[in-house]
Amino acid sequence: MPDTIKKSTIKSINPFNNELEKEFIEMEDAQVDAIIQNADIAFQTWRKVPFAQRAIIIKKVASILRERKTELGILATKEMGKLLRESIAEVELSANIFDYYADNAASFLSDSPLEVAHGEAFLSYEPLGVLLSVQPWNFPFYQITRSAAPNLMAGNTMVLKHASNVPQCAKVMEDIFLEAGLPQGVYNNIFIQGKAVERLVSNPAIKAVTLTGSAPAGASIAGAAGSKLKKSTLELGGSDPFIVLDDADIETAAKTTVYGRMWNAGQVCVSPKRVIVAETIADAFLEKVETLFAGLKIGDPMDESTDVAPLSSEKAANDVISQIDKASAQGATIVTGGKRTQSSGSFVEPTLITGITPDMDAYKEEIFGPVFMMYVYKTIDEAIEIANATEFGLGGSVFGTDIKRAQEVARRIDTGMVYINHVTGIAPELPFGGTKQSGYGREQSPAAIYEFVNAKLIRTTSPDKAY
Ligand code: NAP
Repeated sequence: MPDTIKKSTIKSINPFNNELEKEFIEMEDAQVDAIIQNADIAFQTWRKVPFAQRAIIIKKVASILRERKTELGILATKEMGKLLRESIAEVELSANIFDYYADNAASFLSDSPLEVAHGEAFLSYEPLGVLLSVQPWNFPFYQITRSAAPNLMAGNTMVLKHASNVPQCAKVMEDIFLEAGLPQGVYNNIFIQGKAVERLVSNPAIKAVTLTGSAPAGASIAGAAGSKLKKSTLELGGSDPFIVLDDADIETAAKTTVYGRMWNAGQVCVSPKRVIVAETIADAFLEKVETLFAGLKIGDPMDESTDVAPLSSEKAANDVISQIDKASAQGATIVTGGKRTQSSGSFVEPTLITGITPDMDAYKEEIFGPVFMMYVYKTIDEAIEIANATEFGLGGSVFGTDIKRAQEVARRIDTGMVYINHVTGIAPELPFGGTKQSGYGREQSPAAIYEFVNAKLIRTTSPDKAY
């Protein structure tokens, strides 16, 4: 085996059995620079391709994803461990997002007239150029899609650096774009380590950057972009609050939170990580949650009957265990779970923690695994205080029967998205993004397509009326 491969950090390791599936050679700087240059050259042509033609290609991407959803789902499950049914649903969601932008980009980006006292004024939306996109492993297809669908339809070209543990998903998406007819150079996968990304930001051909991932990675590339006066958007971590009001249907709320929290083995940025329950129903709610936990089946993610998949890697599993141990050492109650399982895979037991107080790290941190933290509140003010206590501000939920009241509570939560009677959800037409340390900018919905275009004013008037 050549040294370059032996040293590579770009590898698929199946978290169910921790066996190496495949590894890829890391690209040299010169190779990456050539890819960026090609993307810049491709931009000169792609920007002129009419929306209708771009839409044909992007719709083809969607149809390939649908045709191959099982095969692609298996690939994602083997690379990062999630349940196969979740992987397949992710591929379907990605197809829907591609269709959404193929269908709507021309209308979103048509000239937008402005009301003026005389003459004419309108905004013309023009693509920026090569976008550098850095994405995480937890939704290997959907994360690429969120970034690629609006930007390719807008006429930008892209260089995508995916997480080092999902290289096969990264490569297959590049192949699918080409198969769908996207011209060479418009979408480009690069195999490099995260720490090698910052250098690319200063390349003059890179016009803007977007990253989904952790706060340190976001700070690194947004800082580099800022120093070069380039625009960035960031989708970072979250510790979503889920407030259960005293009039909530307890059984439905318990099911929604437990299954929501176990989705993707808890490795979802918008997962109900902190469940905040009214004191009057807390005992009954906890009892339901414990019953549901007792019924959860951990196991093979390919098996339809499995509820809780392995985490994405040994490191991820061990990091979650360290956070649980720390919470326990600081005085929280581990009601159930809290350990690795005996299996050879990267499993963590579904874990239920209560008794978390403001002095504990768990009160503020994000735990990226199957860990359900339950809080009890006496007043709505107290619930809001707990909900807003973290630095994160991504999603959140309010569960209750009186919808108007739930919506008023939602207004007081400092996040980018709040869902009533549901965990934070995802749909092509709904904006996705956060505030505070969860980042800035929006993906999906019409909003996403305006992030990386120049909204250029074109004003027609006569010299005597220019002001
Ligand atoms: P991460 O370490 O930040 O990795 C995410 C991506 O950034 C990977 O491609 C990674 O490459 C790259 N990267 C790492 N360090 C970098 C650096 N210094 N400069 C540039 N790129 C760098 O994130 P993670 O811990 O694997 O992912 C989980 C986090 O992502 C959680 O906090 C989760 O909440 C968040 N997330 C947020 C959203 C959202 O929409 N807000 C969605 C999904 C996940 P390598 O793999 O090569 O290190």
